[in-house]
Amino acid sequence: MSAQSVPTQARPLVIAVDGPSGSGKSSVSREVARRLGLEYLDTGAMYRAATWSVVEAGIDLADAAAVAEHVRNLDLTMATDPTAPGVRVAGHDVSAAIRETRISSIVSKVATNLDVRAEMLKRQRDLITAGRNGTHQGCVAEGRDITTVVAPDADVRLLLTASEEARLARRAKELHGSADAASVEATRDQIVRRDSDDSTVSNFEVAADGVMHLDSSALDFEQTVDAVLAAITRIVTGSVTDLDEHARAGAVS
Ligand code: C5P
Repeated sequence: MSAQSVPTQARPLVIAVDGPSGSGKSSVSREVARRLGLEYLDTGAMYRAATWSVVEAGIDLADAAAVAEHVRNLDLTMATDPTAPGVRVAGHDVSAAIRETRISSIVSKVATNLDVRAEMLKRQRDLITAGRNGTHQGCVAEGRDITTVVAPDADVRLLLTASEEARLARRAKELHGSADAASVEATRDQIVRRDSDDSTVSNFEVAADGVMHLDSSALDFEQTVDAVLAAITRIVTGSVTDLDEHARAGAVS
């Protein structure tokens, strides 16, 4: 699908994608945004940047009030071009630093701070709705609570999941270049423990009412992108009026 094939009557379009770690939601959402000519918002990167900054500032993660105060004052800039997404804190490019294991292993501590979530919710809504005010064509926003909390009124809401086995194998390949037993074990904390901690504040394992569910366990990247684009087209053109009925039909459940 090319940008020209997005139904124009639906612009600016907001597409919300949630899912657990390793479901492919970041890479798939970014590619979908690129193909549709929309902005791309990686909300996980915002929590990661907040965590990076809290650590840099030497704040004790257990001091919830100090962490929240720091995040409320955070000078955070999100670049939402899907061909060049980036994250800056006080002008400093932290796009690579926020992916380090030292951040991945503690980000849930910051993301489960409810005052931090309230601040992020405001910022994420501002970034997503900028499209509504005409500054961009629309946005694909992805994370853990976009379909349910941040943008429950999005034009398209999708939960992208994959089996634990598939998610562990994908992330092990990404981080260690292989999905052998040792690499999978080394990745387990980043997937299983992190999702379990994150799920205490967000529901991203079961699709909420009206949220379309796509299981990508048996799909490769291209097939997942195609399935998401097809689902978007069906919803936006109105050819799906009953998501449950469509779910029973099979392709996307
Ligand atoms: O998606 P990613 O793995 O980069 O997300 C990093 C972390 O940010 C998650 O483990 C979770 O703690 C937090 N997060 C969140 N809500 C979102 C997106 C991410 O709590 N909408």
